[in-house]
Amino acid sequence: MRYFTAPQVHDGTRFVMGKKILSFDEEGTFHGFAGIDEVATDQVATFEGLLMPGLVNAHCHTELSHTRNTIPENTGLVPFLGLVVETRSASEAEKYAAINEALSSLAHSGCIALGDIANSTDSLPLRSTANMHIHTFVETMGFIPEFAAQRFDYSLNVYQSFKAQSQPANGYELRQSVAPHAPYSVSGILFELINSLEENSLLTIHNEESAAENEYFISKTGLMQNLYQRLKINDEWFQPTGRNSLPGYLPYLSVTHPLLLVHNTFIDQGDIEVLKASGHEVSLCLCPNANWYIERRYPDVALLADSGLNICLGTDSLAANHQLNVYEEVLTLKRNFPAIPEERLLAWASSGGAKALQLDHIVGSFKPGLKPGLVHIREAQSVRIL
Ligand SMILES: [Zn+2]
Repeated sequence: MRYFTAPQVHDGTRFVMGKKILSFDEEGTFHGFAGIDEVATDQVATFEGLLMPGLVNAHCHTELSHTRNTIPENTGLVPFLGLVVETRSASEAEKYAAINEALSSLAHSGCIALGDIANSTDSLPLRSTANMHIHTFVETMGFIPEFAAQRFDYSLNVYQSFKAQSQPANGYELRQSVAPHAPYSVSGILFELINSLEENSLLTIHNEESAAENEYFISKTGLMQNLYQRLKINDEWFQPTGRNSLPGYLPYLSVTHPLLLVHNTFIDQGDIEVLKASGHEVSLCLCPNANWYIERRYPDVALLADSGLNICLGTDSLAANHQLNVYEEVLTLKRNFPAIPEERLLAWASSGGAKALQLDHIVGSFKPGLKPGLVHIREAQSVRIL
């Protein structure tokens, strides 16, 4: 057995009072908490600061890692999307090296499970050597109904490649599903194709990331509409709903799909009511550093925290963030939303993410039988120990 302790221990849900010595077996399975009188002192590795379970980054795009520092901050979402398209092409070697480095720094800084968006198979060869569980969301997009089948077939091919990859020998799980990019970039027909591929698959979507998205759904005006006109995308089929995007696209998705909604920068109470009444299992993912990078705006975190829905954290890509460590998202939330207890923020970074990625039977909490990993936090730095 291996024993670890620190002045502060967070179990994935709350700070631990009482017994604070963590026992793990040699395979990394958590066995329970022990008191100081139950283990010989020289058997216990003692840390300063805080120990907690492995971190979960529920929303990332490792395949965009080579775009780091290429897009300026505060462009707003619509120009940002154009800049991603312009900067994302690079040599295979360049992309491979950047993804490899991103995965290493993720693991080093504490990540044990990752929700990773893929538009291509660029990240595929590196999944099986990453020191973490990975759910790859093969993202599909296309707003022109006539091209829906073609777009879907492309994504289906990418998805089949990920699905054909064998599970790695290191014991981490690799999973994949096909998911829609965003409400404004997926036609109704494409939503239907995604929905019917697999009945129970975990779906993720960039939800209400900008005011322009909701304006487009409400009145079919604004920056999004201008973009479509500029790109000569024929959106005649689209009928504005007079409401935010969420109630407009949710009916395309069967209740059997758990949903991981990312960003939620412009979500409101009405949308939360719609989600709660929908019957879907819902997780809301916050990426505050990316929201600040792109839009100089944070979501209404108090509203989300009070929603009763599962909350988790993500970083988005290095196109919109300076690093991929969700502990940096915790620090940003702590600075800007001091009313939310740190105990909850740490739960969002661990058990919240594990639940969102359907991995809470393996990671996210110090519960006997789980293999949650172990992260040491001290002086605003996080390091993975197990
Ligand atoms: Zn994203």
